Amino acid sequence: MATGKLTIDLDALISNWKALDSMTACETAAVVKADGYGLGADRVARALARAGARKFFVAVAEEGVALRQALGPGPEINVFSGHMSGDTDMISDMQLVPMLNSIDQMLRHVEALPGAPFGIQLDTGMNRLGMEAAEWGAVREIAASQNPTLVMSHLACADDPEHPMNPTQLRVFHEMTAGFDAPRSLAATGGILLGEDYHFELTRPGIGLYGGMPFVDATPVAALSIPVLQVRDVEEGETVGYSNTWMAERPSRVATIAAGYADGIIRAMGAEAWVHAGDTPCKIIGRISMDLIGVDITDLGEEPDHLDLLGRHQSVDTLADAAGTIGYEILTSMGARYGRRYKG
Ligand SMILES: *Cc1c(COP(=O)(O)O)cnc(C)c1O
Repeated sequence: MATGKLTIDLDALISNWKALDSMTACETAAVVKADGYGLGADRVARALARAGARKFFVAVAEEGVALRQALGPGPEINVFSGHMSGDTDMISDMQLVPMLNSIDQMLRHVEALPGAPFGIQLDTGMNRLGMEAAEWGAVREIAASQNPTLVMSHLACADDPEHPMNPTQLRVFHEMTAGFDAPRSLAATGGILLGEDYHFELTRPGIGLYGGMPFVDATPVAALSIPVLQVRDVEEGETVGYSNTWMAERPSRVATIAAGYADGIIRAMGAEAWVHAGDTPCKIIGRISMDLIGVDITDLGEEPDHLDLLGRHQSVDTLADAAGTIGYEILTSMGARYGRRYKG
């Protein structure tokens, strides 16, 4: 087989959820949008539901449909993008709870599905999703009469605990929800780490569950092992890969492994990235191709049958740094060609 093997440790996932849950006195939901940050929303959500998670969040109604099929009736499935035109049947048939982001969405929802549950998303400064103060003022009374399940907002800078945007958004959230009788939620992973002022009645961690920063104490969840297709000797002065960007400065052994940018291994990370043979780091060399990557194994002293891109020695965030991106993008780019194995 020439496909990478992605191992997803569900026990690690559960221990991350429990660790984040134990940092607060309130309820902890789980964000499983983008197919559970690339790791498989169905398996991830079922594992978390078994561990005690009762509330889930997805980005769009279509993800909610798939999640309901995986979870069955019971767990609450919330949709960040709210109630868009075309969503009504999915919301109703699959018992999804839209987070309404505008007056238009609120009118659509109460007209199409009177009495159906909904939450409200408020904008407290990120200017991405949610009602602004003036809009909220106009519908607040109507909303209150319908008993929303949740009032939520999202922090723009929670990965930086010192950022002044955090207390600013917290203050605005307090102002906008003062006297409003509904459970509140402000914190994702970063917000949980900011402390109890940010916790309210529900937190919504995503990345921390999957082993990513800013949850520094997270247990790694994803491991990626890539088969070696071929090993060759390269003489001093010979080049490897497209555009001859790497030239051997000594007689070298080069392994070609079976993954590339079509599998979400970002081409730009080439010059900075490493793979591991057991405990030994080996440098990625030359351009990352669509399906192949060259690796310098000269100092290894053996021929490995696979090399690890993600695992004990290299986290999603280390890899993200090499590519100038964030762990979120590494995880959600993980390719469809990998063989996936769930542990736990
Ligand atoms: C993605 C998302 C989350 C989860 O954020 P993490 O940083 O992954 O914990 C929570 N709330 C909203 C609105 C989101 O878009």
